[in-house]
Amino acid sequence: MSRIKMKTPLVEMDGDEMTRIIWRMIKDDLICPFVDLRSEYFDLGLEMRDETGDQVTVDSAEATKRYGVAVKCATITPNAARVEEYGLRQMWKSPNGTIRAMLDGTVFRAPIVVKGVEPVVRSWKRPITIARHAYGDVYKNAEIRVPGAGRAELVFTSADGSETREPIHEFTGAGVIQGIHNLDSSIESFARSCFEYALSTRQDLWFATKDTISKTYDHRFKDVFAELYDKEYRGRFEAAGIKYFYTLIDDAVARVMKAEGGFIWACKNYDGDVMSDMLSSAFGSLAMMTSVLVSPHGYFEYEAAHGTVQRHYYKHLRGERTSTNSVATIFAWSGALRKRGELDSLPHLANFADRLEEATVSTIEGGQMTGDLARITTLENVTTLDTEDFIHAVAERLRALLA
Ligand code: NAP
Ligand code: MG
Repeated sequence: MSRIKMKTPLVEMDGDEMTRIIWRMIKDDLICPFVDLRSEYFDLGLEMRDETGDQVTVDSAEATKRYGVAVKCATITPNAARVEEYGLRQMWKSPNGTIRAMLDGTVFRAPIVVKGVEPVVRSWKRPITIARHAYGDVYKNAEIRVPGAGRAELVFTSADGSETREPIHEFTGAGVIQGIHNLDSSIESFARSCFEYALSTRQDLWFATKDTISKTYDHRFKDVFAELYDKEYRGRFEAAGIKYFYTLIDDAVARVMKAEGGFIWACKNYDGDVMSDMLSSAFGSLAMMTSVLVSPHGYFEYEAAHGTVQRHYYKHLRGERTSTNSVATIFAWSGALRKRGELDSLPHLANFADRLEEATVSTIEGGQMTGDLARITTLENVTTLDTEDFIHAVAERLRALLA
């Protein structure tokens, strides 16, 4: 069989621990036998980040700006324990945070839905993708513990020195106050990423805030979305046969529980933080959750939503059998290859990505899966495979599909 040719390279960001082991297996067994892989490789493993003073992370994000598409392995975000374990020179920042800041992106998380791993919400038939605005609000707040009686005011001093004041509360006793902010530019980038991603995946886009209560702050979010939609996206949405839908956050939550899925739910920072955890557990497993960072400039970075699966890695190092789920990492690769295929007009490459996902899903639906899914599946007569054998089983189905 001749291997599928690529035009433009992918940016490949290798990572840490068990996901680094899986990365190699996926490339060896599921990608390279079928695709003449062109990638610009960056080793974001913790040792290399330490050796390069984290320059390698910055370089990989720069390369993503050049090529447009990246696939990333899970990486360790160092804490004090990791500094000691790896003898690090510094407690390096989260690579995902660095890359997201450089690409100015929004993260879209979507569950991989398979028969036999049923969502706890019966009406959900198709994935619900969450987009979380990752700037400002309570995550960049200023807070004061109010000790006793006194007046709290919101004061804005403009560049020319003039002041705007708004009373918050006349305290007669102790309490707390909080100041939060957001930026038109950040909200607009977020909106743009959401509209672009909805078009690129042909799914409806939902957005919700509490604008009836927060008539200036949340209302600004609603307006920025509405203005951008009217100005630049309404025509393209209508042509694509998809909808933009705005409602109140509590109405959105109620509707989501009764919906079939198959749409993107754009959330303010806090809503996205909370709702993405609810969705991933309600859909079954963190190991079945994909994640893509989409920048408003049209860069895409694909990864699994889970971490480096440290506990399994230590078992692996002790020579014990592991049964680590590689599905989300496989889908990171298929997502990146499909996007590369679309951007470079290579239908064979996009088709390969579809077949790879089909082979993965049908392996599970055929009763072969890793331990995490075997424990929760509704299928009977399942075989629990170890890490490597699951990938081999997918490879076998993939060869059959491509033959
Ligand atoms: P984790 O790697 O997501 O794993 C937590 C637990 O979830 C595992 O111990 C395992 O449970 C289960 N799990 C997660 N993914 C799985 C998979 N693919 N197959 C089977 N089970 C899976 O989170 P963590 O252990 O808290 O974090 C480990 C490292 O990952 C940390 O250093 C953290 O900084 C990093 N991290 C990176 C990213 C990223 O790069 N995007 C995201 C999150 C965390 P059992 O042990 O019960 O089997
Ligand atoms: Mg959370």
